Amino acid sequence: MKTILSFLKPYRLPIIIAYSLTLLELAADLLFPLFLGLMINDGILHQNSENIVFWGSIMLVLTVITFVGGIINSYYSSHVSASSAYDIREKLFDQIQRFTFEHLSNYPTSTLVTRFTNDVRQIQNTIFMGLRIMVRAPLMVIGSIVMALIVNIKISLIFLLTVPLLIGFLYWVLIKGSKMFTSVQERVDQVNKVIQENIAGMRIIKAFVRRDFEVSRFNNANETLALETQSSFRFVEATMPILLFVMNISLIFILWFGNLQTIVGTTTVGDVVAIVNYALRTVMAMSMFTFIALAFSRAKASAERLEPILTEKVDHHNSEVEKQSQITTGKIAFKQVSFSYPNEKTSVLNDISFKAEPKEQIAVIGSTGSGKTTLFQLIPRLYRPESGMIYLDNVPITHFSDEDLRGNIGYVPQSSLLFTGTIADNIKFGKEDATKAEVIQAAKDAQIHHTIESFPNKYDSVVGQKGVNLSGGQKQRISIARALIRRPKILLFDDSTSALDLKTESLLLDALRQYKCTILIITQKITTAKRADRILLIDHGQILAYGSHEKLLTTSALYQNIVESQYQKELPYV
Ligand code: ADP
Repeated sequence: MKTILSFLKPYRLPIIIAYSLTLLELAADLLFPLFLGLMINDGILHQNSENIVFWGSIMLVLTVITFVGGIINSYYSSHVSASSAYDIREKLFDQIQRFTFEHLSNYPTSTLVTRFTNDVRQIQNTIFMGLRIMVRAPLMVIGSIVMALIVNIKISLIFLLTVPLLIGFLYWVLIKGSKMFTSVQERVDQVNKVIQENIAGMRIIKAFVRRDFEVSRFNNANETLALETQSSFRFVEATMPILLFVMNISLIFILWFGNLQTIVGTTTVGDVVAIVNYALRTVMAMSMFTFIALAFSRAKASAERLEPILTEKVDHHNSEVEKQSQITTGKIAFKQVSFSYPNEKTSVLNDISFKAEPKEQIAVIGSTGSGKTTLFQLIPRLYRPESGMIYLDNVPITHFSDEDLRGNIGYVPQSSLLFTGTIADNIKFGKEDATKAEVIQAAKDAQIHHTIESFPNKYDSVVGQKGVNLSGGQKQRISIARALIRRPKILLFDDSTSALDLKTESLLLDALRQYKCTILIITQKITTAKRADRILLIDHGQILAYGSHEKLLTTSALYQNIVESQYQKELPYV
């Protein structure tokens, strides 16, 4: 809660103004019944029109003050709540951009989305409520009781007796209600999770004809959410009639006792009306308590979900940077690097040591799960090695800032993700200030230029929904162009030429020679590996062999097996 509250600091002045107006509104509201009583006693009962006009005018002024105060307070309250929610979202977004993959593994995507939307909105509503009524409601109860006692102690004692009863009742509602709403929040998370998994996995669901299963999974989650939301709201809504019932009974007693007192002349009709008004104000303010407290307990739960993200230490890599270094040659060296994923016991890479000279093309091969992608992810420091060190240009990678390191590495991941926007935007994602000529050159080298030219809007074609639908191979080549446009010193291709035919792939690899950068390419195809200067054969997180195709054919039995099995597969088609 402390971190969330710190977001209110920049808005001290509007908060002070809002609270000052609350006090003004409250004072005007509390004086109103008093003056109403005086108008009845001095004006109506004595048929004195001057007094009626006098007290009536004062009450009119009070009403205007309450009205204007309320509007200005609402203005500042919404300004503070919306602006601090904006700041929280901005900070959350900034933190997540700096997250390492280790951090991200602690926060599943579905919960991140709920935190950004639901939880921040909850905080925003509570801040608004906090400024509008959270202080006003309890002060109104206290103020009304005090004012009623001032008007007439004996009659006020009747409604004073009901107050502890109502507070006790409200406390019970609160405890039960907050449990119910916490559970509703968990149900919302559950529904979000089902929706997100479903949308992300739509192709698989259709391919496996799992629609009915998914529909029933969603219906279950949705139904539970609806039922729990209904019962929570019904429970809280039932509070109001009960409060009114108790208060109305006490009002009957006030009127009855008040009537007796007026007959004997110990009180006046005006005083009784004023006390009835204070009693009504008390019950209205009390009915707010449940909503305030429930909103507060929900905001507390939301704050607890947001705070770990907001306070996560994200700058540890850059803190180790002694001097800004640029990658100039692209030489890569792994020295006894071992790695296991966070919260996992088994080691994925064991004692990896190898060197890639500047401008060399290295093919990385090995069975699925042998650790190839993991090895790649260590180079741009998406994960940190557990032991050992990676050197670029003979400098430990910990000496580079994230920007310098990643800015000089072109990484093409296994699955090509394109963003909403045009093809040109997607290629320029690799270099924001790239010229049209640079975009075209990168696309030409990635062997996608002619395809793009064949689209009606060429480079301005929108990708995805409502735009051009691209094949897997076309997406791969656009994401390759996105990496090439940076003219990086190191290029990492994580099986990103798998969907290309042999001819296109060969043209791509020829074009890459001009880039004068060190290239590591994960591949399953021996034809691709053969073209590389050296081949790195990985198995179970260890290097089994490293050298040219010819060398590995004579030194590695596993490599020979792979080559033979691929040629056998290809033979019938030759
Ligand atoms: P390859 O690229 O050779 O197929 P990977 O590097 O993707 O292999 O995976 C190596 C091993 O690490 C596999 O056993 C895989 O299950 C595990 N692994 C991959 N990513 C993660 C992750 N984010 N968290 C935990 N384990 C992972």
